[in-house]
Amino acid sequence: MINKKIFIYILFLFVGNLFAQNTPFTVVIDAGHGGRDPGALGAISQEKKINLDVALKLGNLIEKNHKDVKVLYTRKNDTYLTVFERAELANKNKANLFISIHANATKDKKVCGTETFVFGLSKSKSNLDVAMRENSVILLEDDYKTRYEGFDPTSVESYIMFEFMQNKYMERSVWFASNIQDKFTNDCKRGNRGVKESELIVLHRSACPGVLVELGFITNPAEEKYMASAKGQNELAAAISNAFDAYKRDYDKKSGITTVTSNGATNNNKDKPVFKVQVAASKTELKTNDKTFKGVRNIDVYIEGGVYKYTTGDTTDYNKIVKTKNSLQSKFPDAFIIAFLGDRKIPVNEAKAISEK
Ligand SMILES: [Zn+2]
Repeated sequence: MINKKIFIYILFLFVGNLFAQNTPFTVVIDAGHGGRDPGALGAISQEKKINLDVALKLGNLIEKNHKDVKVLYTRKNDTYLTVFERAELANKNKANLFISIHANATKDKKVCGTETFVFGLSKSKSNLDVAMRENSVILLEDDYKTRYEGFDPTSVESYIMFEFMQNKYMERSVWFASNIQDKFTNDCKRGNRGVKESELIVLHRSACPGVLVELGFITNPAEEKYMASAKGQNELAAAISNAFDAYKRDYDKKSGITTVTSNGATNNNKDKPVFKVQVAASKTELKTNDKTFKGVRNIDVYIEGGVYKYTTGDTTDYNKIVKTKNSLQSKFPDAFIIAFLGDRKIPVNEAKAISEK
């Protein structure tokens, strides 16, 4: 729940290089609340417990699916942490992505659905009012003045001084948040309240992309039951994990990191162009066994302009890819050949010319 509790994530990352390649991709998973702060209270559960359960399940999935990702947790048990400590973990470890897990609450028991916040500074008055009210809980922390470097959560000026926050991570955060909402809607059949903005107070230079996920309303009996159940928690964690997969794949493409394709082959041939046959494109991510692929195996994916594009075949031999394309003629009459040099998509003619050298 973010309306009544404190959510100032002070992520003052000193190195703002989003695509630094020498350190492993680091994701910080933050189970909201904990210890003496239970978060929102439901009829049968407490928010802090739901947050922790889903956070741990999410971390397990990411660890299992991405050997190259460092997963850090702000808490792995029922302990109280200040926002400073949560932020410091991300800061100290030069996190690439911050995922905070929460459950929502409101007076109206009928209200339900998921929503994901991206961290940004809303400029509208009403949002600012909300932010000041939410963040004023900071005053409850005994030594907030030293911790937050004089930041006064009740002063408009304090917010204005943070207006320099760059939007460079905003786009990434929104893309990730939209993906999470898509998965919640399609995979978990949850109501979709959309992607929203929340306030991130950033000191120093820059923050990493980050989202705050509201899994559902603990005040809605059906949703509380779902969130408190192992089935619901597994589904919610899997949905966020799937969104993370897409985020990481896109990150790797942008970083030029060698990616492991779905059939286990690695596309690490940097000198020779690789030819593939593109068979489908989709705004949402599809599983490789989706009926769209009509039983064709070895489906690979790349993301371009926010669209998932699916390919099959992977060869440096142009004649071979023509054969592959012809063999797919009946199933995919519109399929066409594309080419990559390393992870960069290049025109097929250019690729052929390089190949023939
Ligand atoms: Zn919360």
